[in-house]
This record gives sequence, C-alpha cells and structure tokens, in this order.
Amino acid sequence: MQTQMLIGGRLVGGEGPPDPVLDAASGTTIAAVASASVEQVGQAVAAAEAAFDGWAATAPRDRAAALLRIADGLEREAGAYASLESRNTGKPLAAMLNDEMPGIADLFRYFAGACRIPQGLAAGEYLPGHTSMIRRDPVGVVGSIAPWNYPLMMAAWKIAPAIAAGNTLVLKPSEMTPLTALKLGEQLAEVLPPGVVNIVCGRGEPVGTAITGHPRVRMVSLTGDVGTGQKVLAAAAGNLKRTHLELGGKAPVIVFDDADIEAVVAGVRTFAFYNAGQDCTAACRLYAGERIYERLVADLTSAVRSIRVGTQQEAGVEMGPLISERQRERVAAMVERAAAARHVAVTTGGTKRTGGGFFYEPTVIAGARQSDEIVQREVFGPVVSVTRFSDPEEAVRWANDSEYGLASSVWTRDAGRALRVAARLQYGATWINTHFATVSEMPHGGFKRSGYGKDLSVYAFEDYTVVRHVMVKL
Ligand code: NAD
Repeated sequence: MQTQMLIGGRLVGGEGPPDPVLDAASGTTIAAVASASVEQVGQAVAAAEAAFDGWAATAPRDRAAALLRIADGLEREAGAYASLESRNTGKPLAAMLNDEMPGIADLFRYFAGACRIPQGLAAGEYLPGHTSMIRRDPVGVVGSIAPWNYPLMMAAWKIAPAIAAGNTLVLKPSEMTPLTALKLGEQLAEVLPPGVVNIVCGRGEPVGTAITGHPRVRMVSLTGDVGTGQKVLAAAAGNLKRTHLELGGKAPVIVFDDADIEAVVAGVRTFAFYNAGQDCTAACRLYAGERIYERLVADLTSAVRSIRVGTQQEAGVEMGPLISERQRERVAAMVERAAAARHVAVTTGGTKRTGGGFFYEPTVIAGARQSDEIVQREVFGPVVSVTRFSDPEEAVRWANDSEYGLASSVWTRDAGRALRVAARLQYGATWINTHFATVSEMPHGGFKRSGYGKDLSVYAFEDYTVVRHVMVKL
C-alpha cells in the first residue's frame, strides 16, 4: 500500500506523527500514515511555487495532454482505486467502481478540454487608439483541503480545474481517508512536472493550518464543515488569500400532492442513502403535501427498510457504514433527540447495528416540524425527516428557511409550478423530479453557510483564475 506523500515530484514519508486509517466496515486499522511536519508543508509550498512559472506558461494543449493521461491512468487502475477507497470508507465496492470512478476520470477529461477554450469579452479598441484584451491567468499556489466522504472524487474536483488553469497546488486529504489520494500521487509523479501537485497528509491542526496560514499560498479551497470554513477564512485573512469553500448542506425535497409518489420514493431511497447519507446534497429534508403525506411516509418507510446494508463486497449491498464511531455517535444522538419529541415518529431505523464497523440503520423520521433540530441541522448520515405542509407557499418558505444553500429538489407533475418554485429556491442546485446527479459540465456549489465558489464546469475553471486587463497603446 502506497503511504508516502508527494513533495516536489518525489514520494516521501511524513516526518510527523502517524494517523491510523481504518476500515469503516470492521473498525480495524488497515494502515498508519505518517503526517507531514510543518517543515514538510513548507517544502511542498516551496516546490509548488518553484513549479508555478513553468506550469503556468505550459501551452493549454500540453496541460490538456497531461490531464488526459491522468484520466487514462485512473481508468486503467479503476479497480485498484475502487477497492482501496471502499476498503477504507466502507462504501460498497460496486458503487465506487461503477458510480464514482467514471465521473472522476471524466472530470480530468472535461478540464483538459475546458482549459483550451477559455471564455471572455472580445479584445477591441474601447478607448480610441488603444487595444484592450482580457486574460485569464492562474492564481498561484493553491492549498486544497479535502473531506473524507468522497476522498478520491474530492481530490479530483480540486486538482483538475486548478492545474488545468495553470496553478500549482498542495493538497491535503482528510487524515481519515488519505489512501486513494496517495495512490494518485504516485501516478501524478509520473505525469506532471515536479511540484505541480504536492500531497501532504495529516490533521487540520497542524497540517491544514500550516497550509491555510502560509504566506506563499494564494488561494485556499476547502470542502468540509462550516466551522472549518470559518477557521480557514480567518487564517486566509493574513495575506488575503482567495477562498473557495464548499461546506455543508441540508437539502429540501418538496413533494407536491400531484407528484409521482413511486418516483419520489424510489428517488429518496437512492438519493438520501447513497454513501450512507454522508453527502452534502443528500435528499434528507422532505416536505410532503397534505394529501400524499400518509402514503409517502408509509411507502418510503417500507422502501427504506428494504435497503441492503452490508460490507463492501457483499452481494447486492446498497449501503455501507458511516466513516467513524464519532460520526455514528453524532448521528445516533441527533436521532435520539428528534425521537424524544412527542410529535415525531421514527418509522424505521433509528438504531446502530451491532457487530463490527460503524453501521447505522437507514432511518425515516416522520412528523418532524420546521423548528426541529432534525429539520434544521445537517445530520450527514442515513436519516431523512418528513414534514407535512398544507400550503405550497409554506413549503417554499420552509425550504428556504435554512442556514444552508447547496441543493434542493421539487417533485410535481406540473411543469409550470416546478419552474416557478425552482426560481424561488435559494440553493446552488435545484433538481426537478430527481435529485443528486452531477455532471462535469454543470456547476456544484452553494451559498449562505454552504459556502461559495463552484466545483465542476467552466465556473470552477474560472474560480481558479484571475481576470486581467491588458491595454496596448497603438
Ligand atoms: P472537516 O471540516 O472536519 O474536515 C475537512 C478537511 O479540513 C479535512 O481534511 C480536515 O483535516 C481539514 N481541517 C480541519 N480543520 C482544519 C483547519 N482548522 N484548518 C485547515 N484544515 C482543517 O469536514 P469533514 O468532517 O471531513 O467532512 C464533512 C463535512 O464536509 C460535512 O459538514 C459536509 O457537509 C461537508 N462537505 C461539503 C461538501 C460540499 O461540496 N459542500 C462536500 C462534502 C462534504
């Protein structure tokens, strides 16, 4: 197993203390990964800075060629990446191999194309006798900090647009899930000039903070918790780093009385429980019209009861464990607090699974009210709440009554209503009669406490560039 970091094109062991890496499905330790010392973070930033001028000046077609080679390598070794990721996170192997790996490879291919067709205003003589043109240039050294829920995908979301745009970077995967990023590092060492991508391991403190506080890092991109986002912002204030924050979510799912209930049930069964609900876009906060509420709760309860929970390679497994005992405790405590209210019914789940690993039963909480914690706060686990509404206006108001603003969905057979409601939802993404799907060409990102900055699409490419004006006196 590759446990070395990547600094300046060389694979090196960390000089800091080791972090245990667990198999979430059994709770056993599968590796110990030495973290970077603060000096090594400095070396990684210096390597990225040394590589910057050369990489920024590389022709887009040559950067694209490198990105395409990375995509080919990911595809060639998809099985090995998938088995490593599923072993660590406990995700079903088939889900990692068939759902995540193709999107990860595609993302590098997308940005290989995107960097060759930057968009902008036309050059012209806006002041007589002078020609003005717009440039989109890289920002510099980017510090990228990734979470544990989709370790390789999040590494890809951070690396691909940043290097496509000509930046160099220092990536820190989560201390709980560094293995696939480290494997990717081995591949990147063969494809990219030394220092273009550096990978350092370790915890938020001191390794993450060494990145976010470093004066030569010009931009920080974080996917993580809201609280971590706030700390990153405070650290970035030191030298006014650009920040790109993808934080939590609490996606509302508005189900009108005329919706196709079978499709809603099948959709929520899939889109709320994928990755054991550890997804910031999970379809977790349902608002159901009065006439269909009872049927929706009943059908959803039996559908969720049928979710096959198990270990990575069990036949037909649909849902794995949570990432850690800490995360499981957090989910269990939130469900317990929700269940204590007299108006709430836990119609299925609500318990930890006995035996090894960090399993929690898929859970439906009916009768939740708008002010309940379970409706307001992100659970980041396999739990959905269902709240009854009587007035469509109330549903839209409740959906928007959230500190988060990442993802949402509307379910109705009335196309006009769907589009009217979609226009009013304060979320970075709204799906109609579906939920969850992302594509490389379309942006992902939120507002309010979900953060700002886009992943995927040309908008991510633009986020990793600065707009510059060059004027020539003729
Ligand atoms: P986290 O914030 O605890 O950790 C994220 C990363 O930040 C880790 O690599 C961690 O080591 C690092 N970190 C922690 N403290 C730091 C600090 N002070 N300075 C610098 N780095 C620091 O989040 P997590 O528990 O790994 O991930 C779960 C959270 O991420 C959830 O809240 C979820 O909603 C959010 N998330 C958001 C998105 C999105 O796109 N909006 C995607 C996935 C996860």
